[in-house]
Amino acid sequence: MIDQSRIRTIRQGEPKAGPVIYWMSRDQRAHDNWALLHAQGIARRTRQPLAVVFCLVPHFLDAAIRQYGFMVRGLEEVESALRRKNIPLILLFGDPIKEIPRSVTTHHAGHLVTDFNPLRISRSWKERIAARIDIPFDEVDTHNIVPCWEASSKLEFGAYTIRPKIKRLLSRFLTEIPPLRSEKHNWKESFPPIDWKGARASLQVDSRVAEVEWIRPGEAAARKTLHSFISNHLKQFAEWRNDPTQEALSNLSPYLHFGQISPQRVALEVRKRKQPHAAIDAFLEEHIVRRELSDNFCFYNPAYDSFEGFPAWAQKTLNEHRKDKREYIYALEQFELARTHDPLWNAAQTQMITTGKMHGFMRMYWAKKILEWTSSPEEALAVTIYLNDRYELDGRDPNGYVGAAWSIGGVHDQAWGERPVFGKVRYMNFAGCKRKFDVDAYIQRYTADRHLRGDGQPAKGDLCHTRRSSGS
Ligand SMILES: Cc1cc2nc3c(=O)[nH]c(=O)nc-3n(C[C@H](O)[C@H](O)[C@H](O)COP(=O)(O)OP(=O)(O)OC[C@H]3O[C@@H](n4cnc5c(N)ncnc54)[C@H](O)[C@@H]3O)c2cc1C
Repeated sequence: MIDQSRIRTIRQGEPKAGPVIYWMSRDQRAHDNWALLHAQGIARRTRQPLAVVFCLVPHFLDAAIRQYGFMVRGLEEVESALRRKNIPLILLFGDPIKEIPRSVTTHHAGHLVTDFNPLRISRSWKERIAARIDIPFDEVDTHNIVPCWEASSKLEFGAYTIRPKIKRLLSRFLTEIPPLRSEKHNWKESFPPIDWKGARASLQVDSRVAEVEWIRPGEAAARKTLHSFISNHLKQFAEWRNDPTQEALSNLSPYLHFGQISPQRVALEVRKRKQPHAAIDAFLEEHIVRRELSDNFCFYNPAYDSFEGFPAWAQKTLNEHRKDKREYIYALEQFELARTHDPLWNAAQTQMITTGKMHGFMRMYWAKKILEWTSSPEEALAVTIYLNDRYELDGRDPNGYVGAAWSIGGVHDQAWGERPVFGKVRYMNFAGCKRKFDVDAYIQRYTADRHLRGDGQPAKGDLCHTRRSSGS
């Protein structure tokens, strides 16, 4: 059922008699989840009960109530879907390094399974958990269509080097995903339903970055958004995806980030739509090649979020231009409050603060201007990552670290004509944007003064400026 190369052993050992636990982390869904299916397969073979645990950590990489709220509401739906299959969801609170081994001991588990995430924090959790348990522990890549370690065994230079590798393996991995089956063992009765209200009340995260209303979390809303995109917007994707005044993007990134929809399911559904080819190819290039390239970068480059992670040519050229005079220098607070001299940049920042999702094209311009208007590339990268992780619903993601490193440090890009501050890193400017789309319309839509209060928070009632997903 499951291609065995999706599975990596984190800790070996003879399986013990005892329940199988799937520690759900990056892939927060009941359906189309290879990690859950793998755990279910072991439980059936060994005739043991199956449970899913989720560990709610008090702090995660600058995430605020906006992202936690989206995640917790999605988990509520996961619990209901699992209950219908007789599988309990157990919610743990605190540090996974302590809570997962504790749960293994409490439930006398015989096998632990988790999902794959290339980020440092997740890898360190897994290593430390493996050292504290004495049962087999597997990791399943259910986020990449081609498992990250199968697509490539090394850091790739760019889309042009990983694309042929992924394409060669697509027919093997882009297959139909079997449904989750009902468990016979009615273990869920031992666990009372989760008190979600209490769980939300226990969160100690920053509540100043408010939840947004235009997008509804959860697996059902994710599927509706996908189908609405396929029916209404996919055909314009190739032509309009770089125009932030158009509604051509899928809006799937928040769902993909929290694993509320399977990337494999998205690709399968998009491929079913036979026309127009250019739109399908353009979408799958972003959704498969670019997205999976980001996991490759974070998996094989431990410095994925620092200057040292940039390619040698980019480090050299940025070093040569360190002392260049900057026309404008802004502090973090000025960026955060969208108070630069550039109305286009301010509009992009406002779109992110008010909706939690800046248009993809604007993200490139936005990050490149942060390089231009800070004292060093290190500061630019830190500001970009901080703002991205704090305000974007899809932040704290390999795509985000790679997006920042592409914009500021030439990652997955090539050298361009040399100019001040940027050196040979690709440059973008206002005039270029003006040639591509109606910048005045975009600025008008997200005028900072109209949308942000003095403290940078959205003015009341200003959260619904983008297309409501069909799931809302
Ligand atoms: C500075 C900067 C920061 C970014 N931060 C994030 C982030 O935090 N989280 C995030 O998911 N993406 C990030 N991106 C990549 C991209 O902008 C978003 O994935 C995209 O805008 C999400 O909107 P969508 O789902 O409507 O996109 P669509 O265009 O409909 O694309 C569908 C999916 O393809 C993938 N994709 C699209 N563009 C890219 C890309 N350039 N690189 C990798 N995957 C891509 C995403 O998973 C996306 O959800 C960033 C890019 C830059 C330049």
